[in-house]
Amino acid sequence: MKYPLTEQERMIQKTARDFARKELAPVALEANEKGFFPEEIYAKLAELGFMGITVPEEYGGVNLDTMSFMLVLEEIAAVCASTSVTMSVHNSLTNWCILHYGSEDLRARYLPRLAAGEILGAYAITESEAGSDVAAMRMTAAKKGNEYVLNGAKIFISTGDRAGAVIVFARTDPNDRAKGISAFVVDPAMPGFSIGKVEKKMGLKASRTVELVFEDCRVPAGNLLGREGQGLKIAFAGLDGGRIGIAAQSVGIARAALEEGIRYARERTQFNSRIVDFQSTRWKIADGATDIEAARLLVYRAAKLRDAGDTHTKEAAMAKLFASRAANRVAYDALQMHGGVGYTQEFIIERLFRDARVTELYEGTSEIQRLVIARAVIEEFERTIPE
Ligand SMILES: Cc1cc2nc3c(=O)[nH]c(=O)nc-3n(C[C@H](O)[C@H](O)[C@H](O)COP(=O)(O)OP(=O)(O)OC[C@H]3O[C@@H](n4cnc5c(N)ncnc54)[C@H](O)[C@@H]3O)c2cc1C
Repeated sequence: MKYPLTEQERMIQKTARDFARKELAPVALEANEKGFFPEEIYAKLAELGFMGITVPEEYGGVNLDTMSFMLVLEEIAAVCASTSVTMSVHNSLTNWCILHYGSEDLRARYLPRLAAGEILGAYAITESEAGSDVAAMRMTAAKKGNEYVLNGAKIFISTGDRAGAVIVFARTDPNDRAKGISAFVVDPAMPGFSIGKVEKKMGLKASRTVELVFEDCRVPAGNLLGREGQGLKIAFAGLDGGRIGIAAQSVGIARAALEEGIRYARERTQFNSRIVDFQSTRWKIADGATDIEAARLLVYRAAKLRDAGDTHTKEAAMAKLFASRAANRVAYDALQMHGGVGYTQEFIIERLFRDARVTELYEGTSEIQRLVIARAVIEEFERTIPE
């Protein structure tokens, strides 16, 4: 690696890489093939500090920064994209929102258990009629005395049926589309919470994606994050970090795909020549490696901005847009380099190709990232370029 990483960053990267290769790889292989959630891996990740990576020490975390977490995510994603998305949602969304918007009581109650890997986190925004259009959500949270009563359903929730803390967004004011949404920490043990449909996905077979149903689900008023009406702001602030995480995941998938492609192309011979020696293969390798480097630099830049407390909505969207598309391009080309065997489950490239696809869909589709980027660029133009 030729990046100017600090000694500590290099050490974290190496720890994550060693763990991913030695401990995660065999579990990932079986879990993705059979389609189960490898529960035990998260306790091991917690032992390394990776389930509370940006959580301060007073709440049981290791108090590192976004940059460090991105180094870890790339390594984990290169071996198991499913594990990396579970970790990304847990750290970038759940832990981060509780730390930044939770009361002292909420932080003390949830963060130590999340950081210890005792419970996992989930983040529930999407509804059947509110996907890209988050503000269209219909789920309600009505205040009754010292409680909010939640009614509605969330779909596509990663880790939803394995989480001990779910950040749920619901409407507290039916008349205000944007400012009528609030955020809550919901414990699955709360009455009225249940699991609905479990999605059968194309990829990410070792992660869970489920529907969450709320029927008069009673949540203590103290579990409100921030203030009433701040939900959308919290949702998007969380997603700024989440999107950098998905970008890092994409870099990990792309890197693994390119490595698989090169490995195969060095071994396979046709027309008395190794596949790797054909010029068309070398173009794929060069384009893929360049895509990966560029995507990684966008991830690092967005992470550094977040750590410095600078605005980074545009940069996070750029990192996600570019890295997710790069992951799909690289996985496509690497599968092509395999020929027909790339289409079989004998080779890991088949899984990488399927896992890459979702990076352009969740935490905002590529189209939505473009809307976010264009809005910021036009605003910058109007602010800085004189009439
Ligand atoms: C595996 C997986 C895990 C997920 N995990 C979570 C989770 O943990 N929590 C959660 O809340 N959600 C989760 N999601 C949901 C995900 O965030 C949404 O699927 C995503 O935001 C897109 O919403 P949608 O599927 O309703 O698509 P739609 O919004 O219906 O979009 C359909 C198409 O129209 C395009 N489109 C929509 N609006 C516009 C526009 N204004 N301009 C141009 N094009 C547009 C989209 O880009 C897309 O191509 C997950 C999804 C998947 C597949």
